[in-house]
Amino acid sequence: PGDVAALAEVPADKGEVHLVHLYPREMSIYGDLGNTRCLAARLRWHGYQPVVHDHHPGAPWPDRVDLVLGGGGQDSGQVRVQDDLAAHADRLRELATEGVPMLMICGMYQLFGEAFVTVEGRRLPGLGILDVTTRGNETRMIGPVVLDTDFGPVVGYENHSGSTVLGTGQRPFGRVRHGRGNNGSDGTEGARTHNVVGSYLHGPVLPANPQLADGLLEVAARRATGGWEPGEVDDTLAREAHDRQVRRLLG
Ligand code: GLN
Repeated sequence: PGDVAALAEVPADKGEVHLVHLYPREMSIYGDLGNTRCLAARLRWHGYQPVVHDHHPGAPWPDRVDLVLGGGGQDSGQVRVQDDLAAHADRLRELATEGVPMLMICGMYQLFGEAFVTVEGRRLPGLGILDVTTRGNETRMIGPVVLDTDFGPVVGYENHSGSTVLGTGQRPFGRVRHGRGNNGSDGTEGARTHNVVGSYLHGPVLPANPQLADGLLEVAARRATGGWEPGEVDDTLAREAHDRQVRRLLG
């Protein structure tokens, strides 16, 4: 355990799990690509076979989808993916309603909401899967974050100018214990509907929060294979990094 090369040799016989990474070129800032790598590695360690589909603007939609990931990006990256996202909007809404787990970070979180209005006043319509609306500001919200969530305490790092407001009845992803979160004023961070999680947390967020990673994988594996049989994974390093950030920020 702990030896990545040795763990990679574990035969994967529990079935394929298909991950779709939306726009890895345009929307993958601050290491968010690490979330996809983390899920693929954990699936292997649990004995499943990950199949990663990098979805680029204009490409056909993959046949099998068990989990969808999206990362952060510049406002300009969000403009570049907007048309493709609109082209697949109905499909993504349907998958969300079916309970497919999705993790959308920062810029993609904003585009899974109702709309993102840039600091210049340009309105990018979102998918409306999450009932949130975001406005760009001159000041950025930057720094380390600790949240309370359904998955336990979650640590990460935020860097966004967008200030997000939840619609009435929209559940947040977490409650801010340290950091700014959606808007720096109402104590909420991110949003969650069905198994769709939107959040500002980079880091990337999953390697330091294995309970969140496996929470998403469990739903994906059940959809893909009809069950979830987690393997033995040594999370000592991840837990140390996680607990160190909690202690440093909350005392
Ligand atoms: N452009 C958006 C903002 O600053 C998203 C930033 C990001 O994804 N890091 O609010």
